[in-house]
Amino acid sequence: MIAGRCPTCKKPYEIAELRDLPTFPFCSERCRLLDLGRWIDGAYAIPGQEVRNPTGEDDKADDEDD
Ligand SMILES: [Zn+2]
Repeated sequence: MIAGRCPTCKKPYEIAELRDLPTFPFCSERCRLLDLGRWIDGAYAIPGQEVRNPTGEDDKADDEDD
């Protein structure tokens, strides 16, 4: 017997074995997708990542002489 709690809706559940709950550790597909959606929202919410400087000027100090 496995007792757990859904990370999304906090609903406790008890299952005999893991394959009884394909969406483990979530109680349902809906909760699994909700959690996934949160991750994706978070990823998109990060501003200003991977923005290259179009002028080619380095922000980082390039002190080493070539
Ligand atoms: Zn749930």
